[in-house]
Amino acid sequence: MSMNTQGRPTSAGDTSVSYTPKTFTGNRALDMEEPLIFEFGHFDTTGVDFDMPDAFEMELGGHERKAALELPGLAEPEAMRHYVRLSRNNYAIDAGLYPLGSCTMKHNPRLNEKMARLPGFGDIHPLQPLSTVKGAVELIDTLAHWLMTMTGTTAVAMSPKAGAHGEQCGMMAIKAAHKAAGRDPKIVLVPESAHGTNPATAALLGYKVVSIDAKDEDGTVDLEALKRKIAEHEGDIAAIMLTNPNTCGLFEREIIEIADAIHKANAYFYCDGANYNAIVGKARPGDLGVDAMHINLHKTFSTPHGGGGPGSGPVVLSERLAPFAPLPFIRKGEDGPVLVETPEALEAGEQPFGRMTAFHGQMGMYVRALSYMLSHGSDGLRQASEDAVLNANYVRVGLQDLMSLPFGERPCMHEVLFDDTFLKDTGVTTLDFAKAMIDEGYHPMTMYFPLVVHGAMLIEPTESESRASLDLFVATLRDLVMSARNGETDRFSGAPYFSPRRRLDETSAARKPVLKWEAPAPAEAAE
Ligand SMILES: *Cc1c(COP(=O)(O)O)cnc(C)c1O
Repeated sequence: MSMNTQGRPTSAGDTSVSYTPKTFTGNRALDMEEPLIFEFGHFDTTGVDFDMPDAFEMELGGHERKAALELPGLAEPEAMRHYVRLSRNNYAIDAGLYPLGSCTMKHNPRLNEKMARLPGFGDIHPLQPLSTVKGAVELIDTLAHWLMTMTGTTAVAMSPKAGAHGEQCGMMAIKAAHKAAGRDPKIVLVPESAHGTNPATAALLGYKVVSIDAKDEDGTVDLEALKRKIAEHEGDIAAIMLTNPNTCGLFEREIIEIADAIHKANAYFYCDGANYNAIVGKARPGDLGVDAMHINLHKTFSTPHGGGGPGSGPVVLSERLAPFAPLPFIRKGEDGPVLVETPEALEAGEQPFGRMTAFHGQMGMYVRALSYMLSHGSDGLRQASEDAVLNANYVRVGLQDLMSLPFGERPCMHEVLFDDTFLKDTGVTTLDFAKAMIDEGYHPMTMYFPLVVHGAMLIEPTESESRASLDLFVATLRDLVMSARNGETDRFSGAPYFSPRRRLDETSAARKPVLKWEAPAPAEAAE
């Protein structure tokens, strides 16, 4: 081998050798096999080094923990490595395009992060005296103002911590409004295409869910079917829960007629606002007859989705529902915004149904969302919606000759829905197709949802993808479709081949989740 004068080889070596080594550690270069923290942390180790406190008297009235805490201890560098290694196995919007339909996985601008870390926002505590957090209260109030302005509504409950939590909040306000009017309706109408959280929310609050059929030709609500259901259950309907644009990525064009029919039946219109990203600055839900709508700040307003949290799901409310908004809320006082936290502080006409959270909601998300809004301005927000719709249609047009559109080649809103007709007779399933995308370095699209379409594949690229990024994505899917058509089933049936874990038993994971780590039983005596 030729060397330079320092003894360093001047060529790369023979990379043509084909050999898959088994490593001693189980790691594959940067792809690390990381055990659970419980498996290698030691209960007797700790990363902190405090002196033992002087003798003191417990004030827990004998309720103090008797057994050891049994949290795995690690030194700081070990803890750091553990989580960094785990994070390398995670797909993230910062790693690549994340086309998960209905989830609006858009870029989280770094400016938002910077604002959220300002000490006056990042280092405050909800139990601090109000006089020391006036700016934070004002920020919540400013965000509330813009959410109401954008949606054309009268009030907003800021505290819910996710979309589903917002649904619960909005439906509790609706329940309280019925109760205040001396009514006790038992039914909530939910269209077939609804997100699972909608019927779950209604059921959680004790309502009976009645499903509304979708029109075969486009998956939107069948207005006549809705009217029939209303007539059938006259006087017993509390609300309809509807998403617009719906989960097929299509705008419910008869939304005004739907709202009118619901209001005539003395019921309320709950709109699932998870898809608000498609219409910000274009249409105001309040003008469409919406009485309550949660806004997923972690979708539309670019705050991070976290690992299941923290989200933030403020709920805007129409004039009719405004009095029932939960505590705490901000009232305009003579000396600026006043935080109303307790029933004693209420004024005439304020009838909150209760409280959703211990404190005021997700402060960090409020800062990020407001930072996003103010840095875009009204024209920028409108353009973001337009670009989200444009990008989804760009993907649709790039794929519609090879993949199948269940409702024809009509324009979509911010997400495009394909079905599995194009995979027929290829021996490749929707699931296989999605797994092969993982090998290509993409998070799969939303699959098998909405339920109104067989083998659904819902793609939402969002506005923050560049044209080059969309082109590569479209080209990748085209390559996968051609491969399926050409009978290259191996590429799919065993996929993913390159991920840290291969196919998991997703059914067992969902049905029998193991949520708690148990120490392994002592090894059986060898036979
Ligand atoms: C994301 C989503 C929800 C739930 O929001 P979470 O913040 O995840 O609780 C509800 N409905 C639709 C249509 C969604 O996309």
